[in-house]
Amino acid sequence: MRPEAVAAMTAELTAVGNPSSLHSSGRRARRVVEESRESIAAVLGVSAGDIVFTSGGTEADNLAVKGLYRARRAADPRRTRVLASAVEHHAVLDPVEHLGAVEDAEVQWLEVDHLGRLRVDLLEKQLVSDPGSIALVTVMWANNEVGTTQSMAEIAALCAEHGVPLHSDAVQALGQLDVDASTVDSLAVSGHKVGGPHGVGALVLRRGLALEPLLHGGGQERDVRSGTLDAPAIAGFAAAVLASDADRAKRTARVRLLRDDLVARVTTTIDGVTRNGDPVDNLPGIAHLSFDGCAGDALLLLLDAAGIECSRGSACSAGVPRPSHVLLAMGMDPVVAMSSLRFSLGHTSQESDVDRLLEALPGVVARARRAGPAR
Ligand code: PLP
Repeated sequence: MRPEAVAAMTAELTAVGNPSSLHSSGRRARRVVEESRESIAAVLGVSAGDIVFTSGGTEADNLAVKGLYRARRAADPRRTRVLASAVEHHAVLDPVEHLGAVEDAEVQWLEVDHLGRLRVDLLEKQLVSDPGSIALVTVMWANNEVGTTQSMAEIAALCAEHGVPLHSDAVQALGQLDVDASTVDSLAVSGHKVGGPHGVGALVLRRGLALEPLLHGGGQERDVRSGTLDAPAIAGFAAAVLASDADRAKRTARVRLLRDDLVARVTTTIDGVTRNGDPVDNLPGIAHLSFDGCAGDALLLLLDAAGIECSRGSACSAGVPRPSHVLLAMGMDPVVAMSSLRFSLGHTSQESDVDRLLEALPGVVARARRAGPAR
């Protein structure tokens, strides 16, 4: 966590007060929540009233996908189509699949190209064909595995033109890119991706857009998300959002150079390494690489033993030996997909970290190649 977030959160942890209580301590806690809401809204380019605090990105995505679907479908029973990019995080993918399996949604997965970029032409084709039957479109701002970013302004303009609400999972984009939440109808963000605490996030929801709540109870957060607000986590989240916005340009330029250096050194030092994702429009801190003839899991464990922690895909599905749906959607062969690793760099990463990786990696790849590719 960023020091600013730790300070804001720990200060609030020892304070008394439920932000929904009317007494002085409650009003004090409410002030902390509302100032946090204003800070986050300002960074995202929306008004404070658009922010709904949640327990994280997963809840924000579920709330948007299921909540928008149910409200739009209830208002007009013809609206049963859900259009979702094929490379969404499971926090979107699974609620969309749930709507198709358990409710009456007709799910249409939107194709991406070999770099992971949405085929906007195919989205347009779907939008043009009977927009009145579409409940929502959901396209992530930036992909958590390969780092590819989408042309959100173009996608948002198309959805607006056809009067269809657009949700975007911007969990990976916040703090890394200029995220203007006012361009979309609904947007998910999360605390722990910007140097804030785990277990807090927000749904940015355009006011006036009907959404059916998932949680019923005390009616907090415009009646959209009941539950006592976690003022310490919200304060830490806001401090992290402000800090990551303040140093974004400088920090991301430095991390991008470091990442590019990592990719250049790995691909020139070791044969049979391919970089995946969009080489131009991408998140600065992600290097996604495939290693010919290796099992990604073997590489991951050997690197871990050398003190280097990386990931085979999204952390949320790590441990499940399946090729990533993101890589398959990009047209990658399943065996190649299973030979891939994601190296993530952040605000604390240094050149010495890249040096250390380069010391360990050639030997690790040689050992993994002797063991053979994933079956
Ligand atoms: N969406 C994306 C793109 C993510 O990368 C993640 C987490 O890694 C999530 C959603 C889930 O967010 P949270 O961990 O806050 O539930």
